[in-house]
Amino acid sequence: MELEMLKRGYIKATSYYFEVDLPFYNEHLKNFLPDQIIDIHSHVATPEMLKPDAKPPTFWAERVCPNGMSVESLIESYELMFPGKKVTPVIFGLPSDRFILEKENEYVSKCVEKLGLNALILTRPSWSSEELERLVEEGGFIGLKPYPSMAKGKKPDEIEIFNYLPKHHLELADEKRWLIILHIPRSGRLDDETNIKQLLEIDEKYPHAKVVVAHVGRSYCPKQGEKGLDRLKDSQNLFFDISANTNEAIFERLIEIIGTKRILFGSDMPISGMHAKRICKDSNYINVILGADWVDEHTRPASPEDRVTFFLYEEIYAFRKAAEKMGLGRKDIEDIFLLNARRILE
Ligand SMILES: [Zn+2]
Repeated sequence: MELEMLKRGYIKATSYYFEVDLPFYNEHLKNFLPDQIIDIHSHVATPEMLKPDAKPPTFWAERVCPNGMSVESLIESYELMFPGKKVTPVIFGLPSDRFILEKENEYVSKCVEKLGLNALILTRPSWSSEELERLVEEGGFIGLKPYPSMAKGKKPDEIEIFNYLPKHHLELADEKRWLIILHIPRSGRLDDETNIKQLLEIDEKYPHAKVVVAHVGRSYCPKQGEKGLDRLKDSQNLFFDISANTNEAIFERLIEIIGTKRILFGSDMPISGMHAKRICKDSNYINVILGADWVDEHTRPASPEDRVTFFLYEEIYAFRKAAEKMGLGRKDIEDIFLLNARRILE
């Protein structure tokens, strides 16, 4: 039932919410989180933006909320998931082949106008500097959301960051001090040599662009990302968001190597609105999802007796454990969940 609702784009207070989610929140998260939170990484879209011939999704992350979550539903979800807190999102569309990118950007731009939110534009690498500048300014965006699947004609392991975030986009972002939420490519993730080199180049050459490495570089399983983070230890300008990540070990390393001023809270809603726990088999992550009616290499169904809570709670709880182990104080947590983002958005 929980997943059925999310598939239709919303989260509601059910008996399961009162029995499982709310007690988890009250016990583990409520006093840990500051009263105000900025979520630097959230996706909004509605079914009207789907391509007319969009097929049902096959990738797990799209199956969870195949037709998107509207901005109103996102804000209602925060109220339900974080009672007593004020959560403000930075929004952007869903980077998916099933959606019409222009329609998503148009919708997000309307949300900016209507609700005064900060938003990023989904980009096409083929856009010229002039085109990008015009689209960002006309739409009231504050930055860019490039995505690896925008690099056409390449196999996943051949895609490089500069294929979908070209240097002329970075130059403009540097000049305009734009925010960029960057999902890195390739199966080696944060440990991949090409990724490391290009991230170091971005850090050095475009210091005024606020580049956020999403999901801590997709380092979801033990050992993943540790070598990569070590190599980025002298970076000065890169930020990291913790969205959709539950890997306590990489959070500890992130705090140790990068410090607390360049870590940002992000949710990756609506995906993290699923009820799931993540386990790893070697370097493969597997989400154990309540209500999953499919099985694939990244998905197993959870049993109702597992009492799994929101995946977003799992993310924050894992970060809490890492923060406590590393001796972070209230001020550090406020930086990560609010003030670092506020500084970027000013
Ligand atoms: Zn995302």
